[in-house]
Amino acid sequence: MESNHYNDFSPTEYSVPARVDRKSKPDTTKVNIGGVCIGGTEVIIIAGPCAIESREQMLDTAMQVHAAGANILRGGAFKPRTSPYSFQGLGEEGLKYLEEARKETGMPVVTEVLDTRQMELVCKYTDIVQIGSRSMHNYPLLKEAGRCKKSVLFKRGMMATVEEYLLAAEYILCEGNQDVILCERGIRTFENSTRFTLDLSAVPLLKRLTHLPVIVDPSHGTGLSWMVPAMAKAAVAAGADGLMIEVHNRPLDALSDGRQSMYPDDFAQLVKDIDKVAHAVGRKLLPLKPPAA
Ligand code: PEP
Ligand code: MN
Repeated sequence: MESNHYNDFSPTEYSVPARVDRKSKPDTTKVNIGGVCIGGTEVIIIAGPCAIESREQMLDTAMQVHAAGANILRGGAFKPRTSPYSFQGLGEEGLKYLEEARKETGMPVVTEVLDTRQMELVCKYTDIVQIGSRSMHNYPLLKEAGRCKKSVLFKRGMMATVEEYLLAAEYILCEGNQDVILCERGIRTFENSTRFTLDLSAVPLLKRLTHLPVIVDPSHGTGLSWMVPAMAKAAVAAGADGLMIEVHNRPLDALSDGRQSMYPDDFAQLVKDIDKVAHAVGRKLLPLKPPAA
């Protein structure tokens, strides 16, 4: 059986596992989350703070990103921090604020799960379960996500090749969950002017290799809020099905990732600019969902 598509120009033998392989399913998978379709012609935007820090911070940021045109709300309650002394997230208290923001804005929500033991709790509150970069190799967690009844936002490991990433995604699909959204969020290279190196070439590569929808996170990919707009627009031009962008109502006070978090006003301008790029490449932004009555 032919094991790769890329012998023609790549020195790497990509062995694309069966379930994620576009050859097994030529049409892009559309993941539907409460009326928001990821993987169609429309580009979707996920926005919100890195971490849920307080009720006020979560609700205020949620209202502002919703007004700016975001389709899905993000916010972490369990944070994978480099230092054990950094803010670790509010846990279930944070999930409750996220739930309130979901009700207020009508937006579906995404939040990260770090541990198999948190899966049930996180699934009680969220529409999409996020598996972060640091968990890409946590196979028990991937299997648990494959058995949960929610869509999965699955980020690329910062030190993983595309092949390793697809093999990891295969773990989720093997357990029966087909609603998987891939997310390029930057990889470790020798370059240290940016937090990570946003690998935008992974977008066309993944789009060619797999039927799963692909979004890009330019916030973690650069670590610098001023650089986010350029890379967000480039991601859409490269064919991404969506973006995940960190926005904080007061970035200077953020308890995590403040440097890469956009001000709500700058984010609102960026949404308008992304719309222009989307149109230029034959796509458009998914229109706003009206606030819940
Ligand atoms: C996040 O989305 O806040 C996060 C921790 O991302 P990553 O896993 O890509 O570092
Ligand atoms: Mn973050």
